[in-house]
Amino acid sequence: MSAVPKNPPSASRSTADWQAADAAHYLHPFTDFQALARKGSRIITRADNIYLWDSDGHKILDAMSGLWCVNVGYGQQALIDAATAQLAQLPFYNSFFQTTTPPAIELAELLAEVAPPQFEHVFFCNSGSEGNDTVVRMVRRYWDLLGQPERSVIVSRHNAYHGSTMAGASLGGMSGMHAQGGLPIPGIVHIEQPYWFEHGKGMSRDDFGLVAAGWLEAKIQELGADKVAAFIGEPVQGAGGVIVPPATYWPEIQRICDKYGILLVSDEVITGFGRTGRWFGCETFGFKPDLMTFAKGVTSGYIPLGGVMVGERIAKVLIGQGGEFNHGYTYSGHPVACAVALANIRLIQRERLVERVRDDTGPYLAECYAALAEHPLVGEAQTCGLMGALLLLKGKASGEAFPAAAEVGMVCRGHCFAEGVIMRAVGDRMIIAPPLVITRAQIDEMVALIRRCLDKTLADVRRRGLL
Ligand code: PMP
Repeated sequence: MSAVPKNPPSASRSTADWQAADAAHYLHPFTDFQALARKGSRIITRADNIYLWDSDGHKILDAMSGLWCVNVGYGQQALIDAATAQLAQLPFYNSFFQTTTPPAIELAELLAEVAPPQFEHVFFCNSGSEGNDTVVRMVRRYWDLLGQPERSVIVSRHNAYHGSTMAGASLGGMSGMHAQGGLPIPGIVHIEQPYWFEHGKGMSRDDFGLVAAGWLEAKIQELGADKVAAFIGEPVQGAGGVIVPPATYWPEIQRICDKYGILLVSDEVITGFGRTGRWFGCETFGFKPDLMTFAKGVTSGYIPLGGVMVGERIAKVLIGQGGEFNHGYTYSGHPVACAVALANIRLIQRERLVERVRDDTGPYLAECYAALAEHPLVGEAQTCGLMGALLLLKGKASGEAFPAAAEVGMVCRGHCFAEGVIMRAVGDRMIIAPPLVITRAQIDEMVALIRRCLDKTLADVRRRGLL
């Protein structure tokens, strides 16, 4: 057992105290518990704007917006006030039993205003995973109501991320997740991802986009169109490594879904609320989904909230045919979460953050990343709005990857930790998604830190004889 005094007051705890108590009791998500216990967690104690501070007082530039969610940055008083006022007024009431609360109604109304025109209705839940579980239930309910219950298969993609519940992890295409717990659940199948670097070499990106979308058509023909309910995808794969698809991909996916009458679902958990320079990623990529999953940026992560925007094609059937949809959560439409979301969306509107990403900071990040592409370690640099990826390669010209066992991405991430910038490593893809409030000067600061980490990683790989 640890030598930590039993529950000392938090103000008196040192970093080592926190780490010992953490290792003794707290099982973190997606974590090798033993390895973390040996190393000790980093304890984040406060934040402001785009910066975090840890329990040793180190300042860190948060280039991942927490976990792709703190779109308006930390410390926004309007969100804090909205939560406080709602907690005092009505901390909870549910939306079951023919009841609801003003914040839930107002948020539904505001979401219908900012979402693309086909969306007039929303179903609330608490996370992206629950949103995607809701998608599965809703898609199948739709086809049931239309008298086609056999139309139940949902097509997704390898290396997609759609959450960690049973349905979310099944929709996702992460082999490590499928290997634990007997996933995917029945009725969910996967096609290959539109990752040009892995699957499209020798083709132009645009030609590859059409080929990759064609894999959906091939899968539909293999299964029989009368069995396929929906296709789901993230406009830009986030957790898979910020994989920006060719411009031809989504319009072709749309054409195929339309041709076979298949529902199109856009998982906007990361790409929603301004991340790509439009309110939703489907607008950036030019397609018109029937359902959109959202979470994260809807409250900028200040409090959990997720949901599904329901397009008129589906709403007409769900509502019009009557009968109870047997699905929902205690906290669907939680008034405090909805009040925070309202304040968050109004702030995004007031500060014109979406336009800022589209016209100013997004293009500026693209310029900076084009310069980083010249770095000897960088084989590919991609951005979309305020998402970015740098692929670290052994052969800049040949496209040769480093051996996976060399864990070059993790080495780079280690330097990021030490230098005070948070970048995430997905294999050897180094990814960012900074808060949408980031300024040009702060982008300069972030890119300088990233460059320093690349230089240090380069020195390491040379020292190890990997280059
Ligand atoms: N969908 C996407 C595209 C995501 O990126 C995530 C989380 N990173 C989820 C769903 C799951 O969201 P949550 O962790 O809130 O359940």
